[in-house]
Amino acid sequence: MSETAAAPRTVILTVDDDPGVSRAVARDLRRRYGGDYRIVRAESGESALEVLRELKLRGDLVALLIADHRMPEMNGVQFLERAMEVFPGARSILLTAYADTDAAIDAINIVDLDHYLLKPWDPPEEKFYPVVDNLLDLWLAADHRAVLETRVVGHRWSARSTEVREFLARNQVPYRWYAVDEPEGRRLLVSAGRDPDGTGADVARLPVVIAPDGGVLVEPDDQELADHVGLRTTPADAFYDLVVVGGGPAGLSASVYGASEGLRTVLVERLATGGQAGQSSRIENYLGFPDGVSGAQLTDRARRQAAKFGAETLTAREVAGLETCGSSRLVRFADGSAIGAQSVILATGVEYRRLQAPGIEELTGKGVYYGSSLSEAVGCDGRHIFIVGGANSAGQAAVYLSRFAKSVTILVRAESLTASMSHYLIQQIARIPTITVRTRTQVVQAHGEEHLERLTLQDSSTGETEDVDAHALFVFIGAAPTTDWLAGVVARDARGFVLTGPDLGVGAEPVKGWTLDRQPYLLETNVPGVFAIGDVRSESTKRVASAVGEGAMAVMLVHRYLEKL
Ligand SMILES: Cc1cc2nc3c(=O)[nH]c(=O)nc-3n(C[C@H](O)[C@H](O)[C@H](O)COP(=O)(O)OP(=O)(O)OC[C@H]3O[C@@H](n4cnc5c(N)ncnc54)[C@H](O)[C@@H]3O)c2cc1C
Repeated sequence: MSETAAAPRTVILTVDDDPGVSRAVARDLRRRYGGDYRIVRAESGESALEVLRELKLRGDLVALLIADHRMPEMNGVQFLERAMEVFPGARSILLTAYADTDAAIDAINIVDLDHYLLKPWDPPEEKFYPVVDNLLDLWLAADHRAVLETRVVGHRWSARSTEVREFLARNQVPYRWYAVDEPEGRRLLVSAGRDPDGTGADVARLPVVIAPDGGVLVEPDDQELADHVGLRTTPADAFYDLVVVGGGPAGLSASVYGASEGLRTVLVERLATGGQAGQSSRIENYLGFPDGVSGAQLTDRARRQAAKFGAETLTAREVAGLETCGSSRLVRFADGSAIGAQSVILATGVEYRRLQAPGIEELTGKGVYYGSSLSEAVGCDGRHIFIVGGANSAGQAAVYLSRFAKSVTILVRAESLTASMSHYLIQQIARIPTITVRTRTQVVQAHGEEHLERLTLQDSSTGETEDVDAHALFVFIGAAPTTDWLAGVVARDARGFVLTGPDLGVGAEPVKGWTLDRQPYLLETNVPGVFAIGDVRSESTKRVASAVGEGAMAVMLVHRYLEKL
């Protein structure tokens, strides 16, 4: 018996066109290796290749291929040659008759055959098992970790490939990335039937996503992707006590408190839970984390906490409308469907403003990124990268990306960072020799054919321009709420932030729809039972702690509202 046990899904595949021999080989294999390996048998080269492709798609491993040489249509050597394209690390044995030994010897060169065995081999203990044992030990000695995560095959410089990776990363879905021009990427495409002859003929539609169950998605949208990687997109009920719109820290907090306090709660997030905080590489000023916490970690904990209390989370669903119908509130999705609720908490935060300069739009996702896009960080290894923005978010990104990049240049229009960035971050940045801060500087053009190659920078005091080599540009230039869908229903200030409580009376649009004889509660909008929290709220403090605190407070106010219904 082989000395080391393999992963349970590791396969030994045997192919022989003679059903009797095929069964006998499988029986001998099962007897000795059935506890550690899955023994799979096929009766033709084509059907065996089909099985291998399925195994590949599912992320299973194949340790050993045993093929009879004399098979019609595709002989054993031809089969092994093609099988090795799918599982290049598998060890191989060719079963031959005495007359075929020349072919077997040739095969050692053609397909890097490990062994040929003359049939019959009785007793297997002497002639078969020692060979198989040896090959399995060799296979186990190499690194063959099972790939059970989602796999993405795409172009390095394609905007949709970037978005898909970002979506998976921010939703903390484990995935492995394969560039289409690498051999393993090509092998996966062939297995997925997207590039049947391995020439790249059918790869125009990328990325191709292979889910852990082997399902293949071609250029999926976010909702399709979410469905296939196990994120919920459809509500379980038609009516809830509380619908929370937006899954940043504010929404996650509302969801935790709502569900833990007995409200039937659903959270709706259009992209990925965590919101802006989810993009932060290290939040250092959140209470209780003296060593800082990454946005991804904080989000993961909050999401699990919400689920533990029974809150439902819908991902990749955008809310596009809010309607009132008596005491019910109707939250309408972008696809026209809707869910009803007794109360609604708006926690839709803000989004980064777009940088306006020639070339930026075309190169977005191809070297130009909004926010940290941390999944791109590794690709910055040893490169020159630039960050636009002078706030804490830009500073954190600079510190984080300096671990990978050769140089990081922060571009700010102001004369210094002091007015916009926390003191502790300015000090951290000053201690990192590979980070440079260029003040009074702006990007006036981005250049590149397939991806960003250069930037034109302008010194705003002298007007002089300079071209610099740039591998990536990360943009952090202030943010705005995306609340147009609330127009005519929920009152907002001139910049689109939602007015709540006392702010509704000061310089606001008239308080529409208010029918109650009490004043709106502190975080309540002009629509009774609809609350706004976190960054989307007018005059809010743009901090994780305040977003989380407002989530807890809003749930308390929801209870107060429901009691008086
Ligand atoms: C890189 C970075 C670093 C930061 N670092 C710090 C820090 O160190 N300390 C600190 O205190 N703060 C920090 N901040 C600020 C902090 O992250 C925000 O104040 C906080 O995330 C606000 O939370 P929120 O839930 O109100 O909004 P967001 O975090 O903006 O979340 C809003 C969510 O709502 C979703 N959404 C929007 N519209 C819809 C819709 N129509 N339908 C469904 N979903 C929708 C969005 O996709 C998003 O996920 C940082 C921000 C960034 C970007």
